[in-house]
Amino acid sequence: MTSNSRRNFIRNTAVAGVGTSLMGPQVFTSPLPSSRAVKKIIVAGGGIAGLCAGYELMKRGHDVTVLEASGRHGGHVFTARDGLSDGLYGDYGAEHITRPGYERYWQYLNELGVEALPYPRRKNLLRQIDGKFYTEEMLSDRSVLTKMGFNLTEVDYLSKHPYWDLVSLYNKPYLDKFTDEYQPFGVGYDNMDNTPIADIYKKGGASAKALDLLGGANTSALFELWRSAILKLRGVSQFPVDVFRLKGGNQSLPTAFAKKLGDRVQLNCPIQSIQHDKAGVRVKFKWMGEPQELSADYLVNAIPPPAFRKIIVTPGFSPEKQFVLDNVQYDSYQRFVFQCSSKFWEKDKISINIEFDSPDLWSVWQSADEIDTHRVIVLGTGAGGITPQRAMAVFKENYPGATKPTVEQVVSKDWTKDGFAPTCERVHFPMGQLHKFWPEIMKPSGRIYFAGASTDNLNWGMEASTRSAYRAADEIDKA
Ligand SMILES: Cc1cc2nc3c(=O)[nH]c(=O)nc-3n(C[C@H](O)[C@H](O)[C@H](O)COP(=O)(O)OP(=O)(O)OC[C@H]3O[C@@H](n4cnc5c(N)ncnc54)[C@H](O)[C@@H]3O)c2cc1C
Repeated sequence: MTSNSRRNFIRNTAVAGVGTSLMGPQVFTSPLPSSRAVKKIIVAGGGIAGLCAGYELMKRGHDVTVLEASGRHGGHVFTARDGLSDGLYGDYGAEHITRPGYERYWQYLNELGVEALPYPRRKNLLRQIDGKFYTEEMLSDRSVLTKMGFNLTEVDYLSKHPYWDLVSLYNKPYLDKFTDEYQPFGVGYDNMDNTPIADIYKKGGASAKALDLLGGANTSALFELWRSAILKLRGVSQFPVDVFRLKGGNQSLPTAFAKKLGDRVQLNCPIQSIQHDKAGVRVKFKWMGEPQELSADYLVNAIPPPAFRKIIVTPGFSPEKQFVLDNVQYDSYQRFVFQCSSKFWEKDKISINIEFDSPDLWSVWQSADEIDTHRVIVLGTGAGGITPQRAMAVFKENYPGATKPTVEQVVSKDWTKDGFAPTCERVHFPMGQLHKFWPEIMKPSGRIYFAGASTDNLNWGMEASTRSAYRAADEIDKA
C-alpha cells in the first residue's frame, strides 16, 4: 500500500465510523474497502455542491482537495451571525427545503446528524396585490376573486384550491405524460418548446387577470410543463407550504461536510486556469496571493457558470458545452436580516409572512425562532443595490398593522455585488433552446465533471447541488 492509499484508507474508515480503537493496528494494513484504485480529484468551489462532491469522493476512498476562492466555505448557503444580538442568526442565502422533494439532501441530514425544523414561513401568507393586502381566506372568497377580475371557472377553482395553485387549473391536463423527471423530450410536447406557456393558459380559457398573475409570455411551454411535472413526480405541490430549515441555520449542512473533509478544503484559493487532457488535469490557483499548481486525475467543477467563465480552460470545451456555460442565466437579489425587539405583529393579530408588491422589498418572514430570547429575526428578500436603511423604511411604510415594526438593526447581503458568487438561482432556459441545454448541462467533458445547482433538472438549489454532486462523485468513482 502506498502512503497515499493508506492515508485515504484511514480517512475512509474514519468516515465509515470504524475507529482504530475497534480495529487495532489492522486498520493500517488492510486493503482498501473499494476494489477501485484511489483517484486524485480536485473539486473547484467550496459551496454546498463542491463540499458534497468532496465528501462523497472521500467516503469512496479517493484523494480529494477542494479549492475555494473566498475565506469561507458554503457559497450561497450562508448563515450570518455577525452584528446580531442574543445568539440570533439569519440565512443570507438558501432558505428552505421541502419533504418530499429534497430526498438527497435529507439523506445527508440523516447521515450527518443535522437537525431540520418546520419553517412556517409560507403559512397564512398575507399578499399585497395592487397596493391592497389579502389574507388566504380573502383569496378564496368568490366575491373578492370576482372583483379582482378572475373568470367564473377560475373563481370556482380558487374558492376550493389555494391561490398559488391557479396554474394547476391550466397545466394539469399535460403533466401525466412525463414519466421520467430527467427526460422532458419524446413525450409528445417537443414542439411546445417554441410556444409560450401563456398560450397554453389562453388555450385553457385563462382570464386577463389570470394571465397577468401567471405570466409566461416569454417562457417555453415545454420547459414550464416539465418543471411542473418534476414537482408532481416528486410528490410536491406547485408552491410547497410545509417547508423546513436547519436548526442553527442552513449552513449547518455545508459545515458538516466541511468538518468531515477537514484540511482537504482549502480556502482563499481562487482558481485561475485549468489544463486538461486524456490523462488528467492541472489547476493553477493563488493562495495568499502566491501562484500555486496542483495536478489530479479528475476535476469536479462546482463553480456556477458565471464565475467559471472567468477561468481559462485549455483546451476549450466542445461548442455544445461552451454554449451552455456561456448562456445559462441566473437571477440575483439581496437578503435583509431585520433584528426586532418584539413580535410586533402579534399585537396586530396578523401574520408576519408577508409578500409586498414593492420593487425594493419583496417579502418578509420570521426565522431563528428556536433561539431563547424576546428578540426576533425577520428575514426579507429584495432587489440588489438597495441600502438596508431603504429596506427598513419600506418595511415600516408597507407593513399593514397598526404597530410599527420594532426593528433594532438590519444587516444584509447583496448577492449582486459578491465577487465570487454573484448569482442566486438558475432561471428558465430561453424559448426553443431546451435541447441545447438539456442534458448537456450535466454531462462531463473529458476529465472535467460538473456539479452545482445549475447542473440538475430542477433549480431547487440545495437539492440540485447535492444530487449533482453525488452524481459527479459516483461517475468519477466508477470511471
Ligand atoms: C437569497 C437566496 C435564497 C435562496 N433560497 C433557496 C432555497 O430556499 N432553497 C434552496 O434549495 N436553494 C435556495 N437558494 C439557492 C442555493 O443557495 C444555491 O443554489 C446553492 O447554494 C448553490 O450551491 P453551489 O455549490 O452550486 O454554488 P455556490 O454556492 O455558488 O458555490 C460556488 C463556490 O465557488 C466559489 N468560487 C467561485 N469562483 C471560484 C474560483 N475561481 N475558484 C475557486 N472557487 C470559486 C464561490 O466562492 C462559491 O463558494 C437561494 C439562494 C439565494 C442567494
